[in-house]
Amino acid sequence: MSFERMFRDWPLTHLREVKMIRSYSVTTDILSYKRCRRQYGFFNVRGYRSSSATQRYFGTMVHDVLDQLYRMYKKTKRLPDGREVVDCVEKAHVRLIQSGVRAVYTVQQKEQIVTLIRRFLELAGQPFFANIRETEYTLERSMDGDGAPDFVLEGIVDVLAGAVSHALGLEMSRSTTGNDVEIWDYKSGEMPAADSQLMADYQYQMNVYAELYYQQTGIYPARCVLMFIGELNNDRLYNRCRADIRELRHILHVIHPSDEQIGRAMTDFRQTVACIEGEKQLPYATQWQAPNHDVDRDTCIACELRYHCPKFSDRDRHRREPL
Ligand code: SF4
Repeated sequence: MSFERMFRDWPLTHLREVKMIRSYSVTTDILSYKRCRRQYGFFNVRGYRSSSATQRYFGTMVHDVLDQLYRMYKKTKRLPDGREVVDCVEKAHVRLIQSGVRAVYTVQQKEQIVTLIRRFLELAGQPFFANIRETEYTLERSMDGDGAPDFVLEGIVDVLAGAVSHALGLEMSRSTTGNDVEIWDYKSGEMPAADSQLMADYQYQMNVYAELYYQQTGIYPARCVLMFIGELNNDRLYNRCRADIRELRHILHVIHPSDEQIGRAMTDFRQTVACIEGEKQLPYATQWQAPNHDVDRDTCIACELRYHCPKFSDRDRHRREPL
């Protein structure tokens, strides 16, 4: 008896076609891919585990401590004092180490973070914390792939705030009001050069966040502000500013979202998603080749693929030297 005849009275289930939509994060996917597609492919797509998580220590600590201090402020309505900052840094350190992050010179790094955060609180603490609406604010939107597969675009904003700039009396090319909505992002380092790739990446990230915020709420933020906490490490400049943040020229970088910049960032975003998708379709052995563009030397030096990467000119010397 044939197969069809044998089962002809059986009920049939129909296979449902499930459309898979991938999520892309602004920082983890798009900026990582743009920085170096090889590093992105190995660590973010193939899931290789990097043993050099030390780079993450400082930046993650700064973010974590600022977040915790804000939570304390929300409860008590007063700025944390120096002792509480030290405790907070110590607790954040323990959490990070327990999560598997390894770091060197942790005593010095912790001391430096305490200094930076104390200075931040002195310069901006009250008006800043008082105007925060949400921290770690998640933005997520389904996007039309424009010919390529559709995708979900996501990002996490450090701080969604009311009119911090207005409260701090910052001078802007566009005037501030008490009703402004702002997006703030902490950067733990110093402000990079205006014409550097890193600064271009940060601005790109803020423009994409501004568009995502618009897609989610129907309005654009009045401005996006990058805060370079690492600038507070300069004793001379800090002492000279006499507790007035407006005197520190390099701590804040403000981006006023414009149609043109946002349009460019979103086109670039879609193209980058299409490149990543295209890369995944290549035969396994040819995927994730070293990029044709220059890669920042610090990124390469911290990258574990450097010993065999054709892009890294010092690979032979690094292989010879004992670890
Ligand atoms: S060494 Fe540099 S170019 Fe090579 S994979 Fe690592 S980051 Fe990319």
